[in-house]
Amino acid sequence: MNINIIDIIPLVSSIFVFFLGTIVFLKNTKSRINFTFFLHAISISVWLFATFMMFINRNNLEKAIFWDRVVYAGVVFIPAFMYHFGLAYTKKKRNIILYLGYALSFTFLSLVFTKYFVNDIFVYKWGIHTKAQLFHHVFLAYFIAYVLIWFVGFFVYYKKITSPVAKTQTKYIILGFLLLFSIGPLAYLPAYGIGIYPFSYISGVLFTIIVFYAIVKYRLLNIKLVFRSSSVYLLSLLIIFGLASGAKVLAEKFFNEFAFWVDLMVIFFAVSTFPSIKNLFFRWANKYFFTSLYDSGKLILKTGNDLKTFLNIDKIYEYLFSVFSRNLHTKAFGVLNYNEENGTYKLQYNQGFKVKKGTDFDRNPVVEAKFIAHNEIVITEELKNLHYSKKTKDLIELLEKLEVELLIPLKVKGNQIGLIALGPKETNEAYNEEDLQVLEIIAGQSAVAIENAQLYSRVKKFNIRLKKEVKDAIGEVEKSNRSLSQTNTKLSSAYKKLKQLDSAKNEFISIASHQLRTPLTSIKGFISMIMDGDYGKVDKEVDGALKKIFISNERLIKLVNDLLSLSRIESGKFNFNFKKDDITELVEETIDSFKLEAKEKGLRLKFNKPDKKVKPFVFDQNKVHEVISNLIDNAIKYTEEGQVEVGVEDVGGKIRIIFSDSGKGMGPQELEYVFEKFRRGEGSNSSNTDGTGLGLYVCKKIVDAHQGKIYAKSEGVGKGSEFVVELRKDLSSEKK
Ligand code: ADP
Repeated sequence: MNINIIDIIPLVSSIFVFFLGTIVFLKNTKSRINFTFFLHAISISVWLFATFMMFINRNNLEKAIFWDRVVYAGVVFIPAFMYHFGLAYTKKKRNIILYLGYALSFTFLSLVFTKYFVNDIFVYKWGIHTKAQLFHHVFLAYFIAYVLIWFVGFFVYYKKITSPVAKTQTKYIILGFLLLFSIGPLAYLPAYGIGIYPFSYISGVLFTIIVFYAIVKYRLLNIKLVFRSSSVYLLSLLIIFGLASGAKVLAEKFFNEFAFWVDLMVIFFAVSTFPSIKNLFFRWANKYFFTSLYDSGKLILKTGNDLKTFLNIDKIYEYLFSVFSRNLHTKAFGVLNYNEENGTYKLQYNQGFKVKKGTDFDRNPVVEAKFIAHNEIVITEELKNLHYSKKTKDLIELLEKLEVELLIPLKVKGNQIGLIALGPKETNEAYNEEDLQVLEIIAGQSAVAIENAQLYSRVKKFNIRLKKEVKDAIGEVEKSNRSLSQTNTKLSSAYKKLKQLDSAKNEFISIASHQLRTPLTSIKGFISMIMDGDYGKVDKEVDGALKKIFISNERLIKLVNDLLSLSRIESGKFNFNFKKDDITELVEETIDSFKLEAKEKGLRLKFNKPDKKVKPFVFDQNKVHEVISNLIDNAIKYTEEGQVEVGVEDVGGKIRIIFSDSGKGMGPQELEYVFEKFRRGEGSNSSNTDGTGLGLYVCKKIVDAHQGKIYAKSEGVGKGSEFVVELRKDLSSEKK
């Protein structure tokens, strides 16, 4: 066995292609595209592996020929598998061409190990190669035909694609196959005596890498980067293995005698450099190829946990930016808040987009309905398919101008609170399927965190406002308290003054009344005596004058009595003297004292005695006398003609004294207020100038002190009045 360092390349390529194909298949074993890609990769892998075996067995003719035939065993399937992959990718059904292809491939497989396919050998500098035979030519025709058919089919399909992403994907696939079929077939030349070094196996690797790149970059075949880290590991291992083998080959050449030590050193070298090579690859892969080698599960968990700890919105935004830039290598990041009132988005946070913070953006109804409403990420590249309206076109242009690659809805319990905008990755790779899933989850977590922070800040602001308002309110209350207490002092001093004035007034009335009563009473006595003839006979004319004086004097006495009572009531000195007495007698006597006045006015004054004698009961004789005389006086005063009647009725537990007249009567309103202090009826001031409005007030006070009732009735003005006093018969003399 003679291993050349260059011989390793097909081996490494073979493993690489096999690995890639297997991952694609395992990713989705049900997908036709994935499966046919896998088959295709296997046939390439067999080709590359057998090439390697052929190289290392170049000194053993028999083995070399065997492995050359194995190369063909892989290659004969390329047209069928490729065609099959093409059908799957272009979404076409299996057809006769496919079946024919498989039939041919199997036929050629069965011929590969016979002399009709290849036979004899050409010896070249780099090794040997078999000579093409009849079926090799036929196979070549089959190969070329299928390649042509494949390209025509793909080209037709490509023309019909509208989605830009699908178009780019397809472009990569075509490029991959183009490389494969422009370089790959050169490997047939040595079979026809042209001794070109069979470097064309490189096309198998290039093809795989291109398709692989398309898969990574454009989410082709919908493969998640499950093989990210494992592929980097494998690649590192292969490189180490390659380097080690190279080192061994070189060492064997020059230091063959120290083979053991060399082996040891190589192993030591391999083991010690592996971690650094692996790390280097990770970094490269991370930067230039895979975009991100983050562990999505860990990232989601960590972000979710971290987000719970923030209460400040700006901190959340900064944190998210660091997450996206560190893991996805995102160049620009922005957060747009949705304003429900005017239906616009406001740019709340901006890192890297060429637009001012606070800018408003209109909503696009189509995008809202198609994506945001379903919580779906808007991918600018894919949005280009949606030329629904001018508005959508404008939006796409805006997104392209601002270099927005993704818009991710922020939703909490179905309520949209905003959008996250992401710019391109530093590597200019597209966001892959895994990125999108991670972004969707992080967006969900972020939305909750943002809403919580917003609520918190609102509560905080409200608290501050509340504190201020409470402070203001307290200040106001204090202020009004101060002015209230000032008013209070003013009022209380005014009250004091008023009270002083009032008591001075009461004192004055009391003194004045006392001083008036005595002479009035003596005037009354003297007039009575003169009228009775105690000072000699009185002639008729003088008697008439005396009567008038007597009546006026009576009225003055009544007035003074009222004033005296008022001053006593108000000074709290209105004392009662309850005693058992005969009411009928009191009423009769009082009526008698008004006989003269009634006669003078030409009125009939009549007393309606009770049917049965009323038994004496407890009342204050003087005070009740004042009531009766007041009411009779009023009745006479306010009656111009007719009669005044006074009746006493015994009704069960009480005595009712009724005063009715045929006088001026009262309206309903007047009836209500006549018992109030200093209130006089309408027109009373002009018709009866000597009234005070005190009589009925005093009457009510007296009746109230007897726990009785006093009320007035009248059919209306000019229809006479009736005043009723009700007194209880069961009052005890103890009662004050
Ligand atoms: P004064 O008679 O001094 O005005 P009163 O308190 O005795 O005061 O009466 C209050 C008012 O009630 C009178 O001004 C009068 O209008 C009305 N009034 C009292 N008695 C009668 C009555 N018998 N007939 C009509 N009006 C009366």
